[in-house]
This record gives sequence, C-alpha cells and structure tokens, in this order.
Amino acid sequence: MDKKTLLEGLIDRYLLAHKKSEIHFQKTCHHQIGGGSHNLRLFAPFPFYDKRCSGSTVTDIDGNTYVDFWQGHFANILGHNPSVVLLALKESFEKGQGLVTGFPGLLQASLAELILSRMFADKIRFTTSGTLATMYAIMLAKAYTQRDIVFKVGGGWHGAQPYVLKGISVYDKGLSTIESAGLPAGIDTSIIMTRFNDVDDLKNKFSEFGNRAACLIVEPFIGAGGFIFGKPEYIKRIRQFCDQYGVVLIFDEVVSGFRFHAGPLQTLYGIIPDLTVLGKAIGGGMPLSAVAGKNEIMALCGFDAKVHQRVKFEGGTFSGHPASMQAGLTFLRYLIKNEREIYPRIGRLGKRVREQIEAIFKSHGFHVKCTGDGSPVADNSSIIGVHFLHSNVEQITSPEESWNPEVSDFELREKIFKLSMLEQGFNIFHGYGTIAFAHSDEEIEASLEAVGRIAAEWKKYI
Ligand code: PLP
Repeated sequence: MDKKTLLEGLIDRYLLAHKKSEIHFQKTCHHQIGGGSHNLRLFAPFPFYDKRCSGSTVTDIDGNTYVDFWQGHFANILGHNPSVVLLALKESFEKGQGLVTGFPGLLQASLAELILSRMFADKIRFTTSGTLATMYAIMLAKAYTQRDIVFKVGGGWHGAQPYVLKGISVYDKGLSTIESAGLPAGIDTSIIMTRFNDVDDLKNKFSEFGNRAACLIVEPFIGAGGFIFGKPEYIKRIRQFCDQYGVVLIFDEVVSGFRFHAGPLQTLYGIIPDLTVLGKAIGGGMPLSAVAGKNEIMALCGFDAKVHQRVKFEGGTFSGHPASMQAGLTFLRYLIKNEREIYPRIGRLGKRVREQIEAIFKSHGFHVKCTGDGSPVADNSSIIGVHFLHSNVEQITSPEESWNPEVSDFELREKIFKLSMLEQGFNIFHGYGTIAFAHSDEEIEASLEAVGRIAAEWKKYI
C-alpha cells in the first residue's frame, strides 16, 4: 500500500482546513512543548484547537465541526458538557460553593456513600487524577504487605507514576521495557511483568515472585492495551493467586468504572479486589479520582496507622474539590437513575460499529479487527478499538498482539485513518473510540458510511 502518498494528500488537505489552528499551534509552541499538555491530544501535523464542545460534537477555531468519539478521554458517557451537570454546577456557584475552600464540605460524604453502594469496598478516599490514585493504591499495598514487588500487566496503563512505567506500549519481543527516564534506581527489578489473560504466565510469575510481591495491579478491561476484557477465568485466578500468596489485588477501573453499567466492572465479574482505583467518569467532567477498598488497607492513610505502615496518602490541595464533588455526584446519580436507558443503547451502537467496521474493511480486502466486546459478563460495551492487521487474525486477545508492529499497523490507524476520518467530519481515537449517549443513531450511521468511503479510497493505494 502506498501509505506515503495517501498520508501526504491527507496532510495537505488538513493544513488547508485548519489554518487558524496551525497559527495557534506555531504560536503556542514557543511556550508549550509540542503545542500543549498531554501528548495524546497532540497528533501530527498539529491538533485542531477546540472552541466549543457540546453533546456529540466539537467545533474548532477554523469553524470545522466534528462528531467526537474521543469524548474527554472516554470520561464523557453522556457527551460533552451535559446540561444536567452544568446546571448543578451553576446552581452551586450561585450559592457561593464551587471553588476550592480547604474545608471538607458535605458533598464528599454523599459521593463516598453513593460510590461505595455500587461496589465491593469498605472505605474510599478522593484525589484528583487516576495517576495519583494508582500511585497511592500501590503505596498502600506496599505498606500493608511490607513487600516491594509490583506485578503489572503488559499493556497496562495506570498513569505516569514511578511504579508502573514499564511494559506499556513499547513492543520488544513482548511488553517489558522501562518507558520513562527519571525513575528511582532499581525500579526495573521491582516491577514484574505478567501477560494479560494468560493464566499460565500468572502461575509462573506467582510461583517465582509471589512471596515477595506487594500487589498486582490490573485493569479488568484493559484500555490502552487494546480494549480487551479479562476472561472471567483469568480474573478469578488472579484473585485466587493473590489470596494464596498474600498479595494485594488492585483493580484499576479508571476506564471501566461506570462505563459498562452504573458501577465498576468487578460487580459484573463478582470478584472482590482489595483495592479499586476509579477516575474519569466519576468526576462528571471534573478532575476526580478515588481509591476504595478494604478497611484494614485503607486505614493505613489514617491517623491511627502504625508509623512504619502509615502512607502519606493524605494531602492534595484540591482533594475533594467542591465542584468535582458536585459534578461527580450529579453525574453518577444521573447514570444510576437512567442506567436502563443509557447503557443498553450505547452498547447496542458500539456493537453495530464494531461489526460494521470489520465487515466494511473486509469487503474491500483489508484485515481489520475491532475490540471492545466479547465479554460474557458485560454485554453493553460502547468502546470500539480498531486494529489494522498485516494478515488475518481471528481475534485480538492480548495487548501484545495489539502493540506488536508485526501484527498491527499503527501508522495506518493513528495517522492515516485518524486524518481520513477527520476529513469526513469524525474525530476518532485508537481507530474509533467510544459512543456517548449524546450520539444520535444518524451520526453513527454517517460515521459508518464515512468508513465505507475511506476503505474504497484506500483500495486505490494498495
Ligand atoms: N488508569 C487507567 C486505566 C487509565 O486509562 C488512565 C488514564 O487514561 C489512568 C489510570 C491515569 O488517569 P489520569 O489520566 O486521570 O491520571
């Protein structure tokens, strides 16, 4: 396939349609590395800069409007700026509540109670990002067990904190490379990689390192690793091995929490982790995350913990921020109340998109597999990953397949398909992204028609 010519044409046309964004990009590059904060938002040749985001769409400063399937890093289950949350925030600001005060306020209690009522955990503590929350969860596990090793899954992304920056997306005969400079000395040997959905590997790693391991951190639905559900048998065995070796089981449900139903995924598996990390959706669009878990582990961030076990999960100027509490509470109450309407619909649309994208590309001679579904426990999946494969693969079942450049073609997905879909009026992520409740059936159908046109066009370049 002549990808070079295809990409050059797409870039030329992107430049023409985004002149104001280009000027803004060049200007801001004087002050910001790469034109902004958070690298995922800064795709090449430069990102479009948004002026208005509402419901299913985003409009940029050049006046282009896109149907958006990125939806706030997948946090926006209802769509952009849902009126139910905006209204609640407006009312609280009018009452003189909203910005940081440094006092606990009343809403923390309500949100804590609400979230705990939807999951298996005794206590919860709020912080501001998924990254911080996974770091605190691991610190709690290390303090509780008085052990050092962290088991991590290849392809797992838990934010950029020192205990988990190994084996994320750099494929080198597997996923086990340290992926950041500036980490504490010796961190490489204290993070032991395991393969997602691989019970035999789990068994081997536990028998070698289990007695020295503090925790295993895993996403029951792996996000950046390829949008793949943990097989129920794998999730069950994880729990068993952790029990057998006295290892703290941490579920990172930053992506999966409130994504497939109005609660975390653990309740659908029927598996109780020791600690759970939540983020994204629980903030209703505001920066909010949490660690929730068993009394005896959570207590280690409290005043009564013994000195040698006490974890400094106790600060954060913006922890329990009033506006985050208000937005999170309003949003989650809405999701819970309307659960039966929201989740089956976005799940149905997700299924249609996955099936259709595979069929469309197949009919034009491309090997494409979609992920985001296939779980016997969660049938309402609104997440769609699209993998452009070099040859036919029955199903993508592991992050290794998703990240191996010999299996998946990233350039085609992240550059060519991304710009192709933008040209058609759709902002996608990792091959498509997520359905929000705000997306209309017509928008979904239009996105599939766009995929059809793109596949037909690409055929000319084979
Ligand atoms: N855990 C998972 C599974 C995530 O997907 C992310 C972010 O995408 C994080 C943790 C980090 O969360 P944050 O970006 O809020 O720091």
